[in-house]
Amino acid sequence: MADYYEVLGVARDATDSDIKKAYRKLAMKYHPDRNPDDKTAEEKFKELGEAYEVLSDADKRAAYDRYGHDAFKNGGMGGAGGPAGGGGFHDPMDIFAQMFGGMGGFSEAFGRGGSGQRRSAKRPGADLRYDLDITLEEAAKGCEKTLEIERLVACDACSGTGSRAGKSGFKTCPTCHGQGVITQQNGFFVQQSTCPTCRGTGEIVSDPCPKCRGEGRVRKDTQITMRIPAGVDTGTKLRSSGNGDAGTHGGATGDLYVFIEVKKHDIFQREGQDLHATMPIPLNLAIAGGKLKVPTLEGPASIKIPEGTQSGTIFRVRGKGIKSLKGGATGDLLIEIHVETPSGLSRDQQAKLDEFAAALTPAKNQPQYEEYLRKAARFLKDKD
Ligand SMILES: [Zn+2]
Ligand SMILES: [Zn+2]
Repeated sequence: MADYYEVLGVARDATDSDIKKAYRKLAMKYHPDRNPDDKTAEEKFKELGEAYEVLSDADKRAAYDRYGHDAFKNGGMGGAGGPAGGGGFHDPMDIFAQMFGGMGGFSEAFGRGGSGQRRSAKRPGADLRYDLDITLEEAAKGCEKTLEIERLVACDACSGTGSRAGKSGFKTCPTCHGQGVITQQNGFFVQQSTCPTCRGTGEIVSDPCPKCRGEGRVRKDTQITMRIPAGVDTGTKLRSSGNGDAGTHGGATGDLYVFIEVKKHDIFQREGQDLHATMPIPLNLAIAGGKLKVPTLEGPASIKIPEGTQSGTIFRVRGKGIKSLKGGATGDLLIEIHVETPSGLSRDQQAKLDEFAAALTPAKNQPQYEEYLRKAARFLKDKD
């Protein structure tokens, strides 16, 4: 058994999100539905499932880091158990269902239902998912991205027909005799399963193309240029029509879904169309007032700080937020002021401050504090 971190191609200090991303990417690549009859891919996929199941669970990961694979041997960590139960495919994230749930096309394309229904050789291609991280600036202004994605495309040797050049046509599948299912007697039970030779279609290409083995499509690294519109946010799903997997034997091509994730920004936090920022200002500016240079996504702007500005005051800079994806009004930039209390004063500075404090007229210069002292005194007196 290979090292789980190596299986997923991540560092030992990888975050949960790194692990999830790595698993998704590799599981897509080695998923049995995309690699029919490929034993190596099947093994690899099982291994990925095991590695992910352990590394995505904090307890199991800690045990693995400490004891390695021994952590999951019988009698090892109670309940951790052997990740993959017996044969078959193990997909802890149920990645395909999760990715393509509700998008249509998928279940039809790869329905594994053992119901024994014969399916057409013409099947639509799968929809694909791509997770795209972009910066806040890119989300605000829009951008163009080149996505590298491995897809199934029509085989050029046979133009997607699956038949050797110059020939065409299907013949009845010799394994299931056209039934699409095979029946096995298993003790008392009769078990029906989809025919592995024709994968349920009941017919096979009579003279298969050697390049794609009759599948009509091959795996290919492709580059897709995608325009990301201004205003997208984390969770925005963009569809790139016809950039999913090719179908088989003339079936429709799937779509590519791009899931946007906007990276955290150093200065701005986004809330809907508005941007928020907290800005520390020096005490003297808060006291005397003046101009404050503030950053916006479009460059520097300036706001007027009135005399006697308190911490927590919020200034609104209109129209400096995020453009609406649906064509509505652009949001605002909200700047919250945080008055920085000077610290680390020298003896000399402290003396000057004491002098300054003594010169204040409390009722006029700090009425909030005075008011609070009065209220507190009254309250404590009532308690006597
Ligand atoms: Zn068959
Ligand atoms: Zn071919």
